[in-house]
Amino acid sequence: MELKERIEGMLFGIATGDALGVPVEFCQRQSRIDDPVQEMRAFGTHHQPAGTWSDDSSMVFCTVEAMLKEYSTELLGRYFLDWFLNGYWSAHGSVFDIGIATSQALHRIKSGVKAELAGGNEEMSNGNGSLMRIAPLIWECKNLEPSERFRFVSSASSVTHRHLRSILACHYLLEFIRLIAQKELDKMQAFKEMCRSWESGLLVHSPEFANELSAFRRILQPDFNLLPQDELSGSGYVVHTLETSVWCFLNSENFRDAVLVAVNFGDDTDTTAAVTGALAGTYYGSNAIPSEWKSAISRTADIEDLALRLTIRESER
Ligand SMILES: [Mg+2]
Repeated sequence: MELKERIEGMLFGIATGDALGVPVEFCQRQSRIDDPVQEMRAFGTHHQPAGTWSDDSSMVFCTVEAMLKEYSTELLGRYFLDWFLNGYWSAHGSVFDIGIATSQALHRIKSGVKAELAGGNEEMSNGNGSLMRIAPLIWECKNLEPSERFRFVSSASSVTHRHLRSILACHYLLEFIRLIAQKELDKMQAFKEMCRSWESGLLVHSPEFANELSAFRRILQPDFNLLPQDELSGSGYVVHTLETSVWCFLNSENFRDAVLVAVNFGDDTDTTAAVTGALAGTYYGSNAIPSEWKSAISRTADIEDLALRLTIRESER
């Protein structure tokens, strides 16, 4: 698959998944079973027009802008702050959705704290706010040595989420995307490879790691995809979002089905679908995303332009 197809697939995958979830964010799973989302909807939870994406996509687009300059964690923090304060890369000019941990971290950056120290590192600060925005950084770190990749993702997550569990979740997602985008493995092959090598590839064996790795026990089982749907959750806890997104990706045959299953888990619908969309969009490519979804979301042309600029930069590296 061509690079442009993958990069555009990732960015539109995130934004369309996010936009499908925005109108039904925080609704319970039962309401999605009774009335499943099948297409873009308007209004609902945040009173936004159809196709409006939220913080997940804004922070992804800010991340890509930082990559297109001279990427650093500080620069990433400055772009996030510009979004938070001025609505930079927002769908309609203002911020209507932001997580508590992200908001606290951006206030710390504003008051002068270094970006890589800004995220909370309490066990309770393990929402999915760094996982939802981490995917595009694979293009920045894919050629680093494994230990450098871990340090890279650690500082990137730490801008908003500094606890080791959040960092490990981000690392898992990027390594998985690396296997499908750079190594071009089939998704089940890539998943089996993650089960086989992710933990040992971390190259760290401190007691702190051993404790945290227990949170990833289920997603490292080679038959994880066979778990019944009701054992997974659409909550905003980072491990739930990672598990459910990977499960939706593995248990579907195309982009549309993957993100619709994710949205219809209910609860943190936009983020579960955005992370699922990052995996499925990168894997199946931009042409596999329903064109009516791509044209229905906010700022379609700006997203195409951003994907093109990242593609050009990648092909020149
Ligand atoms: Mg959101």
